[in-house]
Amino acid sequence: MRFKKTAVSVAILSVIASLAFNAYEYAESPASQLFGPTLVSGPANRHVVALTFDDGPNPPYTDAILSVLEKEHVRATFFLVGRAVQAYPATARREADDGDALGNHTWDHAHLLVMNAAQITRSLERTNAAIERAAGTSTALFRPPFGARDWLVLAQARRLGFTPVMWSVPLAQDWENPPPRVIAQRILRYVRNGSIIVLHDGNEGMLCAREEPALCNRSSDVDATSIIVETLKRRGYTFMTIPELLALRN
Ligand SMILES: [Zn+2]
Repeated sequence: MRFKKTAVSVAILSVIASLAFNAYEYAESPASQLFGPTLVSGPANRHVVALTFDDGPNPPYTDAILSVLEKEHVRATFFLVGRAVQAYPATARREADDGDALGNHTWDHAHLLVMNAAQITRSLERTNAAIERAAGTSTALFRPPFGARDWLVLAQARRLGFTPVMWSVPLAQDWENPPPRVIAQRILRYVRNGSIIVLHDGNEGMLCAREEPALCNRSSDVDATSIIVETLKRRGYTFMTIPELLALRN
């Protein structure tokens, strides 16, 4: 009898746990608007896409990506980690000088869901100050690390004047360093009008260009960028920065 009761309790608990997990997964999925409005994609009636790069600056890989973009005459949007901007200001400046758009990806890529309002504000303000010092430009774009957000995170971001930017193409797991062609294939199969694509030119803002080079190697992303840009050009897409995409929407 006791065994039966325990079994029933375990079954009920596991159902509750799985419901809670599914609810969390749904709420935190990139397209979810449960916690407030975010930009997920551009207009579906325009043949445009936006390339975005997270977690840099991370020389020399970010610079190599910038060279690909320059060669292809394509502009992208970089979501920068504040402490990496502080360490590599020249790369952040080159992004701005090239006409790429910059966005705020917090000071140290910490999970925002464990922060209070003051800590979120400080992380975002400190990052914007670093971007302004390095690149001479400010940003009103914000992407939460891990895509993790709740009401507090988005309310603080909006209060500071930021537009939260998510993505519409599923992440390519490029941080696991698969071959460039695999990264490109994982992305290209989902691209349609207005898609926002995410690649990673850094590793959560780590400053390991000298200390832990293996953790920062993003050469797969460099070559994947080439393949993705060339393929989407052939498909007739125009590349836009996130501010250009926003202007199109308004
Ligand atoms: Zn990130």
